[in-house]
Amino acid sequence: MSNPLVICEDIQKTYGDFVALDTLNMQIEAGQFVVLLGPSGSGKTTLLSILGGFTTPTTGKVFIDGVDVTNLRPAERPTVTVFQDYALFPHMTVAQNIAFGLTMRNVPKLTLQDMVQNALHTIDLQDLGGRRIHELSGGQRQRVALARAIVVEPSLLLLDEPLGALDLKIRQQMQDELVALQRKCKTTFVHVTHDQEEAMNIADVVVVINQGKIEDMGPPERVYLHPSSVFSANFMGESNILPCSSVGTNGVQTLVRSDFGELLVTGELRVGDTAHISIRPEHLRVGHTAQNDQKICDAKLVSMRFQGAYRRAVAQIDGTSTRLHLRIKPEQEITASETAQIYANPEDFVLLQR
Ligand code: ATP
Repeated sequence: MSNPLVICEDIQKTYGDFVALDTLNMQIEAGQFVVLLGPSGSGKTTLLSILGGFTTPTTGKVFIDGVDVTNLRPAERPTVTVFQDYALFPHMTVAQNIAFGLTMRNVPKLTLQDMVQNALHTIDLQDLGGRRIHELSGGQRQRVALARAIVVEPSLLLLDEPLGALDLKIRQQMQDELVALQRKCKTTFVHVTHDQEEAMNIADVVVVINQGKIEDMGPPERVYLHPSSVFSANFMGESNILPCSSVGTNGVQTLVRSDFGELLVTGELRVGDTAHISIRPEHLRVGHTAQNDQKICDAKLVSMRFQGAYRRAVAQIDGTSTRLHLRIKPEQEITASETAQIYANPEDFVLLQR
């Protein structure tokens, strides 16, 4: 990376014997929308809180804009945190809430009024500046909290599950709005969520965290299509993950043996070593329907459920107890309990060595 905005160097956070973050190293480029994704208790909020200055790491350092901020208080950092409950001031109007941070920074009155008006325009609430907070919907409160944060032009905006309290429809709308806002203001966002669909929808970079460690980090497409660990493959969407062992390798590709029989997959695995192979349900096909497909097994369809754009099927590989998840197109004529020939492009398999 060229000139990262944020550098976390060997961050560890312990509570007594419990390790919440374990020797974590991470770099964030300016202007990125970064999503910290992981299950409950994995350490996402702890990391966000260390970036914002609300928690001090037990060991390690944090640099923002080249400055060691490890021991600086939140107000001394170029960061603003938006909490899940938004922490808006109920006795103030929308405009007063947005102006609050500017007042604290002694911004002259006329400049302040301009900045608040601009912020109200950015979040599309230009007519609601005089409203009290209790007169707003959940989505509108969310936008005010964001406007209050971006108006002080932080280098880094930290968002702790900001959409957690909203219902699904508003949540999806707010995800699109968040991305549009980030593109408009070009501030670097770090956003915490445990929802992988939300992560894929909004992130430039996803950081998959598990038990205080980074499992995977990269653009959502890469993490989804080529996850670097079994955990990452499982957490970023549905996956078929099978144990395998190496029969032979040429250093670039490996012939692996699994319940799919023998398959040549990309990656090097020493002969006799074991690992896993994964493939997404949408990459398994019933019958030879795509170029470069290869038959990988016969499997009995044990269940099929209508999901709108596709049917979600479970199939058991013949002669094994291994079950596969598939997505079958509605127009494909096939019924549950049938034995089907399953095809896939070998390039869609990922060899997972951890
Ligand atoms: P969630 O999605 O549920 O918010 P998270 O990934 O954000 O989870 P953290 O809040 O970062 O998880 O917590 C990581 C771990 O550290 C958890 O096991 C939590 O119980 C523990 N932890 C956090 N704060 C403290 C504390 N002050 N004292 C002791 N343990 C703590």
